[in-house]
Amino acid sequence: MYKSVLENPLCLEGFELQHILEYAENFSNSTGNNSVVTRMKQGLELYNDKFLSDLRFVIPEDGKFTITADVRAAMKKRVKYQPVSEVQTDCKVLQAQCTCAVGAVPAYCKHVFTLLHAISDYSKQKLYAAPTAKLQTWHQPKAMKTVPLPCQEVFGKPSTYEGPSNTNFNWGALKDFSLPIFDACMESVEAKYKLTIPLPAVACSNIGINEFPDDLTLRKMLFINMHYSKDLSELHEIEKKTVEQKSLEWQNGRKIRLTGSNIKDIVTRVKDFENLAASIRRKKDMDISFIPAVAYGIQNEEYVRQWYIAKNPQCVVRKTGLVIHPVYQYIAASPDGLIKSGDDYMLLEIKCIFNPKNIPLIELCQKRVGFCLVNTDGKISLNKNHKYYYQIQCQLAVSNLKECKHKIFFF
Ligand SMILES: [Zn+2]
Repeated sequence: MYKSVLENPLCLEGFELQHILEYAENFSNSTGNNSVVTRMKQGLELYNDKFLSDLRFVIPEDGKFTITADVRAAMKKRVKYQPVSEVQTDCKVLQAQCTCAVGAVPAYCKHVFTLLHAISDYSKQKLYAAPTAKLQTWHQPKAMKTVPLPCQEVFGKPSTYEGPSNTNFNWGALKDFSLPIFDACMESVEAKYKLTIPLPAVACSNIGINEFPDDLTLRKMLFINMHYSKDLSELHEIEKKTVEQKSLEWQNGRKIRLTGSNIKDIVTRVKDFENLAASIRRKKDMDISFIPAVAYGIQNEEYVRQWYIAKNPQCVVRKTGLVIHPVYQYIAASPDGLIKSGDDYMLLEIKCIFNPKNIPLIELCQKRVGFCLVNTDGKISLNKNHKYYYQIQCQLAVSNLKECKHKIFFF
């Protein structure tokens, strides 16, 4: 009676998250609690982790599909449950049941949600179109946005830099390194300062759905549950995976969070908060990685980091990825590096300032409008009203550190 979708397409078009949410609302409306959000999230995780197999269905005679699949139990992997759902051809989920202990009609167990997420993914990917008639799109090369240049044209000399991921890197070669950046870095200024905005980044997590405001929709709750209530090991995993900036995961992680560069705008705002939120959202959707200055900045940052490592052999320095605040997980930052010196941990922050005329720093502080450094009686320090200062405070807060090594370079 059942047909496998591998042989017969399940022609259910337009089934999406909204239809799952509408079904879940039946539960929250009748019980008055929102615990169903947790099971929706678990269902999505089971689906993403490939616990579901053999999606199959019965062709509707009375205007509704009966759709089922096998879902392996998360703990006892050899045990399988069979959630079954009745879905109208207009995508409305009528009801569901499951062979697990809490699967009586109407069932809202995680296996039912695994099934519904599978149907949604099936529909989103348009797998009901015959596979051979569809042009495959998943590994076609994308158009390049930047024009590659030989490094001679960029730096005037061929690079001997072998890249940070090469473990056979010859550190001895650094002494003779003669790229412009390394000549100029003798003028670096080191500013060391203490945390002044205490944000207790304690080691705990799981905000818990009970703490949500009352007026949140299930869709918003699900979003918060999926993205903002991760435990520490998950956060560490994200940080590790996003070390290479501009990776898709790094971009997506930043898109759904407030990051260091937003902080000053938020802290200093006194009205029109809706407009501010809209403008932050707009900026998040822009891809700036193709701008040469941005790419050039990332490139230089790498040289400075390598220089710092070479100059401080007693320290362990590593690149950092997207660091998410363990409690307020809608806040994140991307520090330039993490330094371990003895038992002390601190952040590394690198700022490359374009100064081709080699103007002395003190003069720059006076002349350059909106400069990130100030000169107070001959003592140069970070401007505490500068966006950059707020950004670093945010980096310290998310990483629960109190100190930052600040390297400013001129080139
Ligand atoms: Zn179940």
